[in-house]
Amino acid sequence: MSDFEGLRALVTGGASGIGRATADLLAARGARVAVLDLDPADVDEPLLAHRADVTDDTSVRAAVERAAEDLGGLDVLVNNAGIGAQGTVEDNDDAEWQRVFDVNVLGMVRTARAALPHLRRSSHAAIVNTCSIAATAGLPRRALYSATKGAVYSLTLAMAADHVREGIRVNCVNPGTVDTPWIGRLLDAAPDPAAERAALEARQPTGRLVSAAEVAGAIAYLAGPLSGATTGTALAVDGGMQGL
Ligand code: NAD
Repeated sequence: MSDFEGLRALVTGGASGIGRATADLLAARGARVAVLDLDPADVDEPLLAHRADVTDDTSVRAAVERAAEDLGGLDVLVNNAGIGAQGTVEDNDDAEWQRVFDVNVLGMVRTARAALPHLRRSSHAAIVNTCSIAATAGLPRRALYSATKGAVYSLTLAMAADHVREGIRVNCVNPGTVDTPWIGRLLDAAPDPAAERAALEARQPTGRLVSAAEVAGAIAYLAGPLSGATTGTALAVDGGMQGL
């Protein structure tokens, strides 16, 4: 498939997991792709790597400008960088709430703000935010994380309304539990990693974790020409969790 031929994409958090699978898929389908990440050491050709921290507005602006210059413009922004948090409202203090919101919500706002002037010049402009089933599922011990993803979901709808008449579509994906290095770290920290993995698998009606490639496929659909009439939607990639 070469449906991304001629398109230029920027993927945040593109050095690992869902972001890396998305960057690789868009490149395989013909896009020129830049990755923005805290740690892009393992990102290699044909992907272009830009080191930046989405909590630092100056660093984001500089990386987005460099990426747009390298690619000759921007058509697609995949706003994907994010971090996890566990616990109830009693487990995380204000500083932790502010830290996770800074990455998961403001990080997407900063990147979108820097990318929008470039996207306005594109004849095929799309933003895809990586949200989560946590935005709507009411998962236990995920109060802070879920609140950040609820904000990402609302942000997606509001941005879709704000930019549709400029020809910029904004959608999000809502993955269930995805087999990425992030989940690997979570399992490693559990007292019984095998039991924890089995519990995560059992939570999804398909009985298995979602693959990063499956989320990348959904992101590519929302970023690509075949979803040209779709904006302001959340596409679940959750092994059936949403239907529960
Ligand atoms: P991951 O940890 O494998 O990859 C995240 C990437 O984001 C890393 O390369 C990391 O360096 C980068 N990153 C983190 N903080 C950053 C910052 N401040 N600035 C720039 N880059 C930063 O995680 P993943 O599982 O691929 O998750 C990617 C996205 O998917 C996140 O937004 C996450 O909330 C979402 N998500 C993940 C799952 C899951 O089960 N893995 C489920 C639903 C949603």
